[in-house]
Amino acid sequence: MKKVPFVTKEMIEEITKTYPTPFHIYDEKGIRENAKAVKEAFAWNKGFKEYFAVKATPNPFLINILHEYGCGCDCSSLTELMLSNALGINGHDIMFSSNDTPAEDYEYAAKVGAIINLDDITHIDFVEKILGKLPETMSCRYNPGGVFQMSNGIMDNPGDAKYGFTTEQLFEGFRILKEKGVKHFGIHAFLASNTVTNEYYPQLAKQLFEIAVKLKEETGANIEFINLSGGVGIPYTPDQEANDICVIGEGVRKVYEEVLVPAGMGEVAIYTEMGRFMMGPYGELITKAIHEKHTHKEYIGVDACAVNLMRPAIYGAYHHITVLGKENAPCDHKYDVTGSLCENNDKFAVDRMLPEIKIGDYLAIHDTGAHGYAMGYNYNGKLKSAELLLKEDGSVQLIRRAETPKDYFATLDCFDVYNKIEF
Ligand SMILES: *Cc1c(COP(=O)(O)O)cnc(C)c1O
Repeated sequence: MKKVPFVTKEMIEEITKTYPTPFHIYDEKGIRENAKAVKEAFAWNKGFKEYFAVKATPNPFLINILHEYGCGCDCSSLTELMLSNALGINGHDIMFSSNDTPAEDYEYAAKVGAIINLDDITHIDFVEKILGKLPETMSCRYNPGGVFQMSNGIMDNPGDAKYGFTTEQLFEGFRILKEKGVKHFGIHAFLASNTVTNEYYPQLAKQLFEIAVKLKEETGANIEFINLSGGVGIPYTPDQEANDICVIGEGVRKVYEEVLVPAGMGEVAIYTEMGRFMMGPYGELITKAIHEKHTHKEYIGVDACAVNLMRPAIYGAYHHITVLGKENAPCDHKYDVTGSLCENNDKFAVDRMLPEIKIGDYLAIHDTGAHGYAMGYNYNGKLKSAELLLKEDGSVQLIRRAETPKDYFATLDCFDVYNKIEF
C-alpha cells in the first residue's frame, strides 16, 4: 500500500518557522483512532488492559492520550516508573516488566504498587529480600525456548532470548510464590517481535492459555491475568499489509473460549503491552536535505542522524521516506540518505529510489513513533531533537523541546564546563 505521510510540505514549511528541523512529530488523530480500535477489539474481555510500553515513546503527553482510553503503563526501569507516577498512573495500572533488575527499581515499583512481572526464578528471593515480603499479586515471564513459528513463515527465536522462566522454572516458581503467600498470579510472554500478521497474538495466547490451565491444575495458583506483552508489528515497508487489531482480538477470543472457558477460567483478564503498534505509525521524523554529494555513490545529507532514529543503523531497518511536495514525482533517483555521524552506518536509506532531491527539501521518515526518539543517544556530541504533537484541530504543540549544548554539558558540572564555554 502506498505510504502517505500525515504531514504536507505546506504544513512543515509553516511549522519550521517556529521549530527548526529535525524533529519528531506525532499524529494525535491517528493515535486516538488506533487506541479506540484496540479497546474495542478486546472489549469482549472484562478485565482487558493495554499497558503501553513506555520505553517505545516515553513522552507524558502521548501516554496521557492513551490513558484516556484506559491504557496503563508497562515500565522496565526506575525512570519509566517515575514518569508513570508523575502522570498519576500508579498501582495496578503499572506493569513492571523488567529484566536484570536493580534493587532500587524493585523498591520503587513496590512503593507505587506496580504489578511486578518477574523475569527469572532467582528474582523471587531477590525481591523478597528487598521488600521483606512479596506483594500479594505477582506475575512471571515465560520463555518456552526453541523457535516460535507462524504459518506464513514469520518466526522468532525465544531459545536465544535472555528473558523469562523455562517451563520447569515456571511451575517451580509458581509453587514457591504460592508457599510464600502470593495470592494473585499472572503469566506473561513475549515470543516474537514486530509480527506483521494477525496470527501472532492468537497463537501465543493458545500456548499461554494451555500452560495456564496446567499451572492452575498442578499448583493451585489463582491465575487472574495473562499478559500477551508486545510484538504486534506495523508495516514499515509499502508491500506489507497492516495488522487488523479487530481480527487479532477475535482470534484471541476464540482460543479463550476453546481453552480457558472449559477449564473454568472464564474470568481471566487479558493484558497487552504493545508499544510499536500503539505509536509507531503515528510518528514521523522530519528532516531537511542540507547537502548532496556525488562520489562513488549519490548521497543526500540531511540534518537528522542516527541519534534521532537508530533503527536503520543498528538493525538495518527499513523506514519509508517521502520527499514532501514530491509525493507523486517519479522515484527515478537512487540515493543513500545519510546523517552526519562519523559512522558509516549512519544512513536512513541505502540505494533507495526516490524523486530527485534538492537541497532544502523536507523529508518525512515514516513510522518513527515507537523506538524512534526513545532510542536516541548523544554520540558525536549530537543533541536530541524536539518532539511535536500535531493536534486534532491542526495546531502544533511542543511536547518536548530540543536539547541544547547546556543539556549536553550538564553532567560535567564537576568540571564546571558550561561556564568555561564561549557561546
Ligand atoms: C519492548 C517491550 C514491549 C513492547 O514491544 P513492542 O514490540 O513495541 O510492542 C512490551 N513488553 C516488554 C517487556 C518489552 O520489552
